[in-house]
Formats: sequence, C-alpha cells, structure tokens
Amino acid sequence: MGKILAKLRELQGTTGKFPFQNLPDVCKLKIFSYLGLIDKGFAAQVCYEWNQWLRSPSLWTDIDLTKLPLHSKRLRFHRCSSECYEEYRVRISKFLRYLSGIRPLILRVSFAYDIADYKEGWFDLIELLFTAVRFGELEAANLNWKATSIKPLWSDSFKWSVEEPQGTEYIERRRQRLFAKFFEMFVCAAPKLKKLIMPFDWSTRSITSLITLGNIETLTLEKYFAFQALDQVMLDAIFQSLRCLRQLIMEIWTPSGNGLIGYQIRSESLEFLDVSQCRGFCISRVCLENIRVFKASKRTWKGPLALKGDLSVSCLHQVLSEGAPRLEQLNDHILQPHWREHCYDELHVVLRSVCSCNIHR
Ligand SMILES: [Zn+2]
Ligand SMILES: [Zn+2]
Repeated sequence: MGKILAKLRELQGTTGKFPFQNLPDVCKLKIFSYLGLIDKGFAAQVCYEWNQWLRSPSLWTDIDLTKLPLHSKRLRFHRCSSECYEEYRVRISKFLRYLSGIRPLILRVSFAYDIADYKEGWFDLIELLFTAVRFGELEAANLNWKATSIKPLWSDSFKWSVEEPQGTEYIERRRQRLFAKFFEMFVCAAPKLKKLIMPFDWSTRSITSLITLGNIETLTLEKYFAFQALDQVMLDAIFQSLRCLRQLIMEIWTPSGNGLIGYQIRSESLEFLDVSQCRGFCISRVCLENIRVFKASKRTWKGPLALKGDLSVSCLHQVLSEGAPRLEQLNDHILQPHWREHCYDELHVVLRSVCSCNIHR
C-alpha cells in the first residue's frame, strides 16, 4: 500500500493532478465500481477509453432501478410536467438497451413499476431487462410490480379513470396475470436467489414458481389483493420446499368469515417469522424447532363479514411453548427462561396484544 501511495505521489508531482490514467487497470475498475448508476452513465461519456472501461460487465452487478431519479440532472427553477416522466421512461429504456450490449451477470436487482400500466409499457421494459442482463448468479431481488414509485402524484389524475372503463378490479386481475407470467420466467432464470422481497398474489401458479427457489433464505411477501384465500396445503408446500428459509415476513389478509382462520406452520429451518401485518390470519399450531423470533399482532377482520361471538382460538402461549423449543423473543419482548411453565405478568401484557384466545382478548 505504501509503495502504491509513493508511486501515486510521484506521478501527481509532475502534473499536480490525480494520475488516474496511469493507474493499473484493476485500480481503475475498482474506482469505477464505487460510482452509482447515474455517475457511471456520466463517466461513460467522458472519453472513448472510459466508455470502454464502463462496458466491463463486473461494473454492472447491482441494478437498482429505484435509485434512478426522475431527472438526470439537478434542475433549478424547474416545474415538473408529464414530459419529465416521459423522459424518465425513455431514459430507463435507453439504459436497459445499453445494458443489453454488456449482458452483465448481476447479483442484485430492484425495481418498482406497475406492470399493469400497459400505456406506459413497464411490463415491456421488464421483459427488456430479462434480455439485457443474466440472472444466473442473482442473490437478491426486490420486485415491486404493483406500483411505479417514481411516478409523480399529479399524473395519477389522468391515469385509470378515463382509460380503463373496466374498473380497478379488472386492472388488478390483469396485473396479477402478468405477474404470474413474469414470476415463472424469473424463477427459472434466477435459481440461486437467496433474498426476495415482493408483493405476492398467492395464486397456485405463483406458489408453484415460488417453491422452486430452493436456495431462498430471506423472503418477504407483501400483500397484493385485499382478500386472499390461503390454503393450508399451499402453506405446507412452501415450507416443505424452501429448506433454507430462515426469515419469513408475510402479509396476507384472509377473508375469514368468523374473524380468524387458524393455520399450522411447520418448518425446520425457520428462525424468524413475522406475521404481524396479517389480518384474519392466526396460528393454531407450530412445529418450528429453530425459531428464535416470532412477531404477531391481533388483527381480526372487522368488516361486514365478521361474526361476533366466541372465537375458538388456541392460546398463543400454549402454541409456542409446545412447538417452538428455541424461541427467545416474542415481538420486542425477550422471553424469560421459564416462560413456558410460568406465564408472568409482562408476558401476559404482550400476549394480550397478540393473542385472540378467550383469556387474552
Ligand atoms: Zn421535472
Ligand atoms: Zn392467549
């Protein structure tokens, strides 16, 4: 290191400038690798040589499209219009075409585009992403396919109401069908995926795709539909197939007629389970030998379908003490060593916020 610094000082001494051009190739690549997507784009326009450097596939392992801003430059005294958004879409499309000339083997990918918005063509762009990069080594993906996060709020007003006489339900169904198609392609292309965050539709087709991701360790399944029927058989299939799954966060709103539907969860690998955003979903039995942290909440469905009266729900204290031998934490509460045998006051308080049994509700 000392020798390199001395050499750099010597080179710098003659011109007073940082001697980037004289650096060894490996150092140049390393420096370029610290640039964000936008800066890489600017760097590629500096000169022919830099342009060639920027075509190195190793510089394009992280494709986070959510980091690309609406404007490519900082603008002063500017009033945004629909043209800005239009230009943004063109820029994304150009960027993906640029990548398709490099075909990098990427490790991480993120996007947030509403794939049902055919007028804006996001689904086509995601298909373009598929041809532009290779997912064979992909480790982490954050795929928000239900909302275009960059879209300015004001542009919503001219969005669906005029263009879509069929209504939002029709759009939701179309989005869901497109997702199932996209996800099928995605799991085939990314067999080594370890971490995945996305809204999930819980359709049989998508679950069939999901369970092929045998290397997945961390999974976050956000809500898509307001009400989603969930079958115990499907839930079992997920845990039986995803043998490396250590962390699961899921949000599902089940259309539970009597307030809650009880599910059983059996997994040998799971260490962290968060179902606190679920509604109408409760856990009646667990067989989780390695679970350390469990997060839940009491969110019964209080809508017009809910019936008043007794909910015959097992007490979570009993469920967990029977089926979670290594549990250390319930929500934010660190469990005391004897929590199974003796339900102390503090634990009762926590249970009252998560358990719907006759004692705690
Ligand atoms: Zn603007
Ligand atoms: Zn209870």
